[in-house]
Amino acid sequence: MPRPILATIHTQAFRHNLERLRRAAPDARVWAVVKANAYGHGIERVFEGMRGADGFALLDFNEAQRVRDLGWRGPILLLEGAFELRDLELCSRLDLWHTVHCEAQIDMLAAHKTNVPQRVFLKMNTGMNRLGFAPERYRSAWARLNALPQVDEISLMTHFSDADGPKGVAEQMAIFARTTRDLPGERSLSNSAATLRHTVDPAQAEAQPDQVVVSDWVRPGIAMYGSAPDFPEHSAADWGLQPTMTLAAKIIATQDLAMGASVGYGSSFLAPEAMRIGVVACGYADGYPRICPSGTPVLVDGVRTRTVGRVSMDMITVDLTPVPHAGAGSVVTLWGTAANGAVLPIDEVAARAQTVGYELMCGLAQRVPVEVAV
Ligand SMILES: *Cc1c(COP(=O)(O)O)cnc(C)c1O
Repeated sequence: MPRPILATIHTQAFRHNLERLRRAAPDARVWAVVKANAYGHGIERVFEGMRGADGFALLDFNEAQRVRDLGWRGPILLLEGAFELRDLELCSRLDLWHTVHCEAQIDMLAAHKTNVPQRVFLKMNTGMNRLGFAPERYRSAWARLNALPQVDEISLMTHFSDADGPKGVAEQMAIFARTTRDLPGERSLSNSAATLRHTVDPAQAEAQPDQVVVSDWVRPGIAMYGSAPDFPEHSAADWGLQPTMTLAAKIIATQDLAMGASVGYGSSFLAPEAMRIGVVACGYADGYPRICPSGTPVLVDGVRTRTVGRVSMDMITVDLTPVPHAGAGSVVTLWGTAANGAVLPIDEVAARAQTVGYELMCGLAQRVPVEVAV
């Protein structure tokens, strides 16, 4: 028998989350961001649930090839653009739109031999200070691109550093608005947090053209996967998002602890009174963070309880006090949705691990079998 651990990908949850994001930005087209192998879910596994998007955004050429192999003929955007000249041949071959964030990429385009001009997204650095042209360089980059026969339509993009927090997007938005005001082309600004928290009403944009910009293309990633971009200020449920990944494993043994007995490596947990614990077939080698302390929430048979003791490579131990009937074979939900419909948000586990849902999804280990549910 295979080891009793399973990740489940929920196809219907993707459709639901996409609808939710469309309601948040009703006038925009949606890039479903599927970089990092669809945030650890597997591009092939999410495709059915995401195919209602208007395009797929990613940054790896292998992944772009895989999206084409699935039969997708619509837009694909490379979020970091070309890394070297021959990447542009792949862009031609696979019909990829690509980001241009630096002069070297414009040089590559100028050197690229093609009869079919390419669609590009010209990126502005409005304060994130990762990729993009500084505002004072942006218009000359645009003019340079516009003069190249290798370039078709030029779209305008930027990326927000603080869409999920108190600083917000106003400052970056205003820089972008001012700099692009009279430039033609579609605009793409918003990640998940900006789409949910800062979607601009077109009337507002018309009234303050130097301050705000309407996204023609939004770029949600994490919200498509049912995690809140601004947890704990909002939970996924607050945003009406559904988890797309469940990680579950079974209890393979139980132990009755006397008061004062310890559990696991380092004896980090001492039973405050006599209690029963379950040993679960999931550990850090499956992608469950080792740093999660005693008290991290889990569901046993759909009932909320907590971990006790240290996470080891192949096992964790959980308190069975709230679920006296649980035993070997009981299903433990590490994150996601239990059979009774109870949800343990990945964001809660991530918070205990001092990280974000993104990292847990991306960290699902190769050895965990994955099933796609409708
Ligand atoms: C990853 C990424 C996104 C998606 O961000 P989320 O926070 O997951 O919504 C959007 N735009 C760019 C440029 C990205 O790299």
